[in-house]
Amino acid sequence: MQQSLIAFGLSKEHLVSITPDLWAEGETAKAFEVLGRRAAERGLDLRVASAFRDYDRQVRIINGKWAGDRPVIDGEGRLLDRARYDDDEWLNSILRFSALPGTSRHHWGTDLDIWDASAAGEDYRPLLSPPEYEPSGPFFEMTRWLDELIAADDAEGFYKPYAVDRGGIAPEAWHVSYRPAALNYQDMVSAESLIPLWRGEPDDNGKIHEPLAMLEVIEPQVDHLLERFVLAP
Ligand SMILES: [Zn+2]
Repeated sequence: MQQSLIAFGLSKEHLVSITPDLWAEGETAKAFEVLGRRAAERGLDLRVASAFRDYDRQVRIINGKWAGDRPVIDGEGRLLDRARYDDDEWLNSILRFSALPGTSRHHWGTDLDIWDASAAGEDYRPLLSPPEYEPSGPFFEMTRWLDELIAADDAEGFYKPYAVDRGGIAPEAWHVSYRPAALNYQDMVSAESLIPLWRGEPDDNGKIHEPLAMLEVIEPQVDHLLERFVLAP
């Protein structure tokens, strides 16, 4: 399987099932199991809210937000009104929380959004919002435990690529990445390989995908956008 197909969320061949409806890269799944056992020893119950997401689903998310059919929120969780923003501002608001198709770390299967069922109960539906992971929120204990392990480089290979606000992607306390596998994909993102996909031209398997609705806004500033919203440490 070509690495570029995996990097852009166009392949599922490297994935294993971690719950009936969630998929992750094989080594990532194994490492997360170990991390989960260590968490359980501390009374935590690590759960995965989202794992692998494919290219087509990311197109539907981005196009839906562009059209105003899906909610777009600001850093405080407030719903934004499409009519009050010009195209560039609207694109930037979308990209703060949603990746351009082909650039999401969730395409790789190496990245997971996690929460703690011991603190919120089995039936809780995590919002993946900053307050849940802050000192007054239910997942703070898990966050503190995991951040200590990460700081000591003792988190089974996991780290938080979006821990610090770099002016592009919002900090995501819930997003962890399995570094040994993620390293294979993070340098593959480039405008030359993505723009044809975004235009709806066939991928390396000859498969056609839905074009991006806001491509004319993106194309003139694509290098800047990739630099600001894609690169993660
Ligand atoms: Zn995530």
